[in-house]
Amino acid sequence: MKAAVYSGPEKIQIKEVARPGCRPGEILIKVYFCAICGTDVRIYLHGHKKVTPPHIIGHEIAGEIAELGEGVKGYQGGEHVTVVTSVGCGRCKLCKQGYYNLCPDSQAIGYKYPGGFAEYLLVPKEAVAQKAVLKIPENVSLLEASIIEPLSCCINGQNYLNIKNDDSVAIFGAGPIGIMHLELARAKKAAKTFLIDISEEKLKFAQEHFSADYFINGQKEGLIKKILSLTNNSGVDVAIVATSAKTAQEQALKIIGRKGRVSFFAGLPKDDSIINFDSNLLHYQEISLFGSFASYREEYEEALELIGSRRIVAKKIITHLLPLEKLEEGIKIIKEGRALKVVIKCSEEENEIKG
Ligand SMILES: [Zn+2]
Ligand SMILES: [Zn+2]
Repeated sequence: MKAAVYSGPEKIQIKEVARPGCRPGEILIKVYFCAICGTDVRIYLHGHKKVTPPHIIGHEIAGEIAELGEGVKGYQGGEHVTVVTSVGCGRCKLCKQGYYNLCPDSQAIGYKYPGGFAEYLLVPKEAVAQKAVLKIPENVSLLEASIIEPLSCCINGQNYLNIKNDDSVAIFGAGPIGIMHLELARAKKAAKTFLIDISEEKLKFAQEHFSADYFINGQKEGLIKKILSLTNNSGVDVAIVATSAKTAQEQALKIIGRKGRVSFFAGLPKDDSIINFDSNLLHYQEISLFGSFASYREEYEEALELIGSRRIVAKKIITHLLPLEKLEEGIKIIKEGRALKVVIKCSEEENEIKG
């Protein structure tokens, strides 16, 4: 089969590799689409402790069942599916509650296990046993389904925030994740939305294609003063930081109002992750600060439902569709901030895909 093999920072080669065999308990998926994640860009540029090259990365997968290993029940060949990324140990307290994403020994498709930038993907039996293979209903196309994973992560982040229809919501970061947070907040009828970024181009693109009440350049416009003046000095109800920037995290804690909820959705670089904030704010103003990491199966199901009902319009978020040969070009486009979601088409038979 054809695969994009990552062999170290800034090295990906498209080549023929052996198609994996399907052993008992496993599921082989023919991958039609695999979207590029911000993490894939970071793996490509700097490597990742859980990825040992040579390796196939990619975890935002949509395809169909090509083969079922012996003993696998509940699926049929040809069914459209996606795969939950995190695979837990299956034994710890968090795994027992279904939170495989938070298992201390969590492994993942496209990290430890080979991923989706290839014609076929083998789902390991541990993942099959954890019901990681999720059927895609007919009202969601395979192309749309390729953004279920990142959307499910945004849903995980927002599940902590309890966004209601009279809430004001500020989102830091106008990349694909920030945009998905914006669309989710709007689907929850947030009263006022602010999209903040330091890139004029990203803000301009967002403004042309999506709706927010205010698009603000966080570097230029005296952000804290501006948000306070736009909220009668009371600050926002919800702030979501969807960018890996300390300044944005610190700003979020300065624009948040009483009883406000803050999500640190994006991680910071591991050698530079200490921030400053006045902890009395949390205490006296009853502010809640949440982290969130990856997602679990129920949130994939929520994402499917939102895409299927078109409350989230996947095709607005997917800006590029490229063949597997152009994976590196896709990564470059994302790195330069010229795209929202870039999806890679991994298999040729176009006529089988409804799009
Ligand atoms: Zn992802
Ligand atoms: Zn576990």
